[in-house]
Amino acid sequence: MAFLSDTLSRVKPSATIAVTTKAAELKRAGRDVIGLGAGEPDFDTPENVKEAGIRAIREGKTKYTAVDGMPELKEAICQKFANENKLIYTPAEISVGTGGKQVLYNALMATLNPGDEVVIPAPYWVSYPDMVLLAGGTPVPVDAGLDTNFKVTGAALEAVITPKTKWLILNSPSNPSGAAYTYDELKQLTDVLVKHPHVWVMTDDMYEHLVYDDFTFYTVAEVEPALKDRTLTVNGVSKAYAMTGWRIGYAGGPTHLIKAMAKIQSQSTSNPSSISQWAAIEALLGPQDHIAANNKIFRERRDLVVAMLNQARGIRCPSPEGAFYVYPSCEGVIGRKAPSGKVIETDEDFVTELLETEGVAVVQGSAFGLAPHFRISYATATSALEEACQRIQRFCGNLS
Ligand code: PLP
Repeated sequence: MAFLSDTLSRVKPSATIAVTTKAAELKRAGRDVIGLGAGEPDFDTPENVKEAGIRAIREGKTKYTAVDGMPELKEAICQKFANENKLIYTPAEISVGTGGKQVLYNALMATLNPGDEVVIPAPYWVSYPDMVLLAGGTPVPVDAGLDTNFKVTGAALEAVITPKTKWLILNSPSNPSGAAYTYDELKQLTDVLVKHPHVWVMTDDMYEHLVYDDFTFYTVAEVEPALKDRTLTVNGVSKAYAMTGWRIGYAGGPTHLIKAMAKIQSQSTSNPSSISQWAAIEALLGPQDHIAANNKIFRERRDLVVAMLNQARGIRCPSPEGAFYVYPSCEGVIGRKAPSGKVIETDEDFVTELLETEGVAVVQGSAFGLAPHFRISYATATSALEEACQRIQRFCGNLS
């Protein structure tokens, strides 16, 4: 009898974590490696947020809390949704988990039956299809490529909806492409969804605050209030507040779904860290000025990276609206030969050769469901980015 479960054989480990681990190994072995694989801000958690965590420890707020979040944090989240998204949720419609990742996972575990389909625009965040598989559902990727600026169109969405479709997962701004949907682009999608009352929407708004050039962020239930009772609006403090290690994510949605998600969480991790929950309240309700300050730096880095990559032979890099990623096409280098003699046949070959020849760690597009591309995270020091882009230019220039 096999020891490991059949479920486990359906999923693969995270490709982004694999690249980060490989880069760290090379570094430990003394290689000069620039890691552009990690999906977290290089900025520090704001001081006021750290202090709130420290205060929580000193005041003994270190015990179990309600499974899916303390009332004080749920209140703060309701305020956030009302002020920033014009969405009125009550605390009973809020779920807090150990990162947005757990919240998404709970929702899928709580709702998917074998055969249920989940529509996922590609390129997608690496975890969506595997989470769907773990929960017993079927991921259905839908093309959202360069031609449509990495956004799924209403027509493409309409074409993949079947009677078995349970969810659409929408992520704007997107990891890995940085693309963010305008009001009109979202409206195109919500018009389709209104026609299909059996389809629910999971919007992953994790990068909401990271948008540039006066882009205005909108979320699905705000654009189409008629969808609110079948929308799970997911967000978190990891990216905007540089709190990836604190592990707090949350969602607003209909009470019956929120209750079902709490049931899953109650039998796995129980409540997220009490200390982190107090810190998250301060993040959501405290001063927000660091966001604009960080965004100014992110935008400068994005512009630098896009300009330098477009000067690399065979690379085409559109300028995205948000997040801290770019997702260039490396189609122009496919078929070329690296100095090692290896012919680059896939984006995976490209990133492997780039890491080995120039010590630059990026993630292959095939991991995100759209190839041949690669993802660069520009949440790293500007000087390192400049050096990395020079190395990419040199690497591409040396291909024959
Ligand atoms: N959603 C997207 C698109 C992400 O990129 C990430 C993190 O990389 C998450 C969700 C999960 O974030 P966390 O679990 O840190 O809240």
